[in-house]
Amino acid sequence: MTTLNDCRALDAADPLRPLRSHFALPDGVIYLDGNSLGVLPKAAAARVADVVAREWGTDLIRSWNTARWFDLPQRLGDQLAPLVGAGPGEVVCTDSTSINLYKVLSAALNMAREDSPGRTRIVSERSNFPTDLYIAEGLCKERGLELVLVEPEDIAAALTSDVAVLMLTHVNYRTGAMHDMEALTTAAHAQGILCVWDLAHSAGAVPVDLHGAGADFSIGCGYKYLNGGPGAPAFVWVHPRHADRFWQPLSGWWGHAAPFQFTPDYQPAPGITRYLCGTQPIISLSALQCGLDVFTAAQALGGMAALRQKSLALTDTFIDLVEARCAGHGLGLATPREHAQRGSQVCLTKDTGAYAIVQALIARNVIGDFRKGDGGTGRHKDILRFGFTPLYIGFEDVWNAVEHLREVLETGEWQRPEFNQNNAVT
Ligand SMILES: *Cc1c(COP(=O)(O)O)cnc(C)c1O
Repeated sequence: MTTLNDCRALDAADPLRPLRSHFALPDGVIYLDGNSLGVLPKAAAARVADVVAREWGTDLIRSWNTARWFDLPQRLGDQLAPLVGAGPGEVVCTDSTSINLYKVLSAALNMAREDSPGRTRIVSERSNFPTDLYIAEGLCKERGLELVLVEPEDIAAALTSDVAVLMLTHVNYRTGAMHDMEALTTAAHAQGILCVWDLAHSAGAVPVDLHGAGADFSIGCGYKYLNGGPGAPAFVWVHPRHADRFWQPLSGWWGHAAPFQFTPDYQPAPGITRYLCGTQPIISLSALQCGLDVFTAAQALGGMAALRQKSLALTDTFIDLVEARCAGHGLGLATPREHAQRGSQVCLTKDTGAYAIVQALIARNVIGDFRKGDGGTGRHKDILRFGFTPLYIGFEDVWNAVEHLREVLETGEWQRPEFNQNNAVT
């Protein structure tokens, strides 16, 4: 059985431990919600202040050139690309995940249906993150197509010849379950179906190899594991074999081949640049850069492979400790035990009180979050969700988090009325 001393020894031997010093972790907080909003990189406050005071305040419009604001989305895309197995010039950081999904899903539908107009379906997973489903639903409504939602074990059977696009999130936000990207992409391609992969819970959390998997389109989030700050720009990747084939539907001037020619007609820029739309949020992009810089620093310590090894050790330790020390309180495990099927989070289920337990933990400065189930079909229960960001979480944090959980359960503290009032954001 793992002890507190074992956890301390694991921290002492952890080659990635120095990365924690890049983050402004508040004293006394055990932050297990980096899968929802990553922690502030220490460099970000000064960087943003400099962008505001000097680049904007003093240099003003000259900064588009002198501070290289203009190609910041592409430069950050190049910095991010190795984390997801993409090449240079293939990624831009821009807009939100929802908006980028709209762009790539539209492009994918255009391509699939130009080749074969009888393809009228998008297949996705019923428990995909709702915004992904809503964007797909909107596109289906606009174009008279059908969105088919299935459980993970039924995806392969749903890949029929009338499907245009398979749209999946690599790591499920509710359960932390990870799809086999390569196997599903291969199965989809065998039926002539294009694949859109959402990496919101994968980029910076698990190694991803978009080229290796043969993926077609991908998007992901900047404010989760990439620590880009609240509402940080997201990213978009399109395989080079597709990038020049279609306009994306938000054909704004930043995606134009020569925006400062001010021509009345649209000529898309070659490659991924056409996936930009309008003027970019430079202050937010600058903060995101500080998040990406930590991954660049992690490169020297083993990069994503080392981060993955630590992430699995953290989630294994958490699962073992919860099962050993919090037994008898009705907790279940929604996250797969198999490493190949697990992202970087652990989701516990509980029939009643999941929300209040999370609130009681937050009051103790152990910050995870609650995700609602589907109201008792048994398939999707209420979830207590804990994200483990290997950049800044240690094994002693895991031990302490489980001790707080044990105390909250054993004392019945979670039943107090203040923990049972619902907040707008869970
Ligand atoms: C977090 C998340 C999003 C967020 O979309 P926004 O446009 O940034 O609000 C989208 N998709 C998935 C799968 C997510 O986990």
